[in-house]
Amino acid sequence: MIKKLSGAGLLALSFGVPVYADHHNEDITLYRVFVGDHQAGQVTAFNLNQPDKKWTFKTAGQVKLYPVAKGSAIAAIQSDDNQVNFIRSGISFHDHGEHSDIEITAPEAVSLSLKGERPFHLIEHDGSISINMNKGSYATIVDSHELSEGNVEYRIIMQNKAHHGVVVPWAKGWITSVAGDVVEEGKAPPRIGVQSLSKEGNPTSKLTQCTNLHGEAFSGKYLAFGCKSGVLVAKKSKGATTNYRMLTYPDNFPEGEMTGHLLGVKSYQAFLGSYGKNAVVVIDPTATPAFSLIELPFRRVDFILDPVRIQYGYVMTEDGRINQVNLINAEIEKSFQVTEPYSMDGHWNNPRPRLAVAGNELLVTDPNSGLIHRVNTETMEEIGSIEVDGVPYNIAVAGGSGMTH
Ligand code: ZN
Ligand code: ZN
Repeated sequence: MIKKLSGAGLLALSFGVPVYADHHNEDITLYRVFVGDHQAGQVTAFNLNQPDKKWTFKTAGQVKLYPVAKGSAIAAIQSDDNQVNFIRSGISFHDHGEHSDIEITAPEAVSLSLKGERPFHLIEHDGSISINMNKGSYATIVDSHELSEGNVEYRIIMQNKAHHGVVVPWAKGWITSVAGDVVEEGKAPPRIGVQSLSKEGNPTSKLTQCTNLHGEAFSGKYLAFGCKSGVLVAKKSKGATTNYRMLTYPDNFPEGEMTGHLLGVKSYQAFLGSYGKNAVVVIDPTATPAFSLIELPFRRVDFILDPVRIQYGYVMTEDGRINQVNLINAEIEKSFQVTEPYSMDGHWNNPRPRLAVAGNELLVTDPNSGLIHRVNTETMEEIGSIEVDGVPYNIAVAGGSGMTH
């Protein structure tokens, strides 16, 4: 009898009793919002579920904000002040297979700031954050993982001459934009194409033409650049070579316009791009035709992809409305008023709304009223607003959901 109990009986008993008596799983969703001021050199941060408590970070000047290093940090690019600051978001995730663990601390400025001559475009890929120094003839490459631990470790990749360009982390090296030799007086050097560089930064290919190159993004296996005649897509082929293909704008598209800003969908093969001021395009390099044009009722102010409801993007137009764009059928599904109209005439950097997505919410900065509008992306209705001192302008979000245990 006793022998039996110590065998199967005991085994059953050990399954019946909780193994960890003090074990508790907590399911946490937290989004932290970072807002740059239009005039003052400052970033305001708050938790979306507790916006009354705010943190303020001083910068040298106006910032453009990017979540980087898997949202563990925010890069604050200060183009006019030749500086880049990093803020640790205080939210990080650790992959546990079927769920992620979330770790939350207060946001904190990284003490080391980067100096550089007119930092502008930022693109992150494969653990490298590349920031183009438009007047420095180089890009500064910051290591994503080191940054997630609060360290700024960087290197420099040179370009052929100073220009408003980009260096993209690619394969084991880089793809850089190339500036032309003929520069009109009083103008910035023209961008004429791209070229591959080795890990060390030495050219390893000839120039691939992309006149007026502007805008770059990754989606799936493709990297895309906006050019005058079309969208140039790059894809790795077997071996180390890169295949380029120019997706030429269809004949029926409005003349004289181009794609100058691109966003890459994370979960499937597509890009959402600008096309002139009055339209956006959905681009799928694997489809024929590759382009679907979506005409807008008014000029575009800002646009963004929804990383959760992945079939949607949101385009803010100058009439103050948000247009919910369905990328699958290239149609505007809904539109609704969120701010007063903002004119696209006047300086490009005048205070105008900017967009960010935080889980099930679309956040819209409203510089003229000093508010962040909160829009439920399921119902496309405003569910509230948050007051931010000063002139809220650029915005970035870190966070998500995970477990603590
Ligand atoms: Zn876990
Ligand atoms: Zn630019």
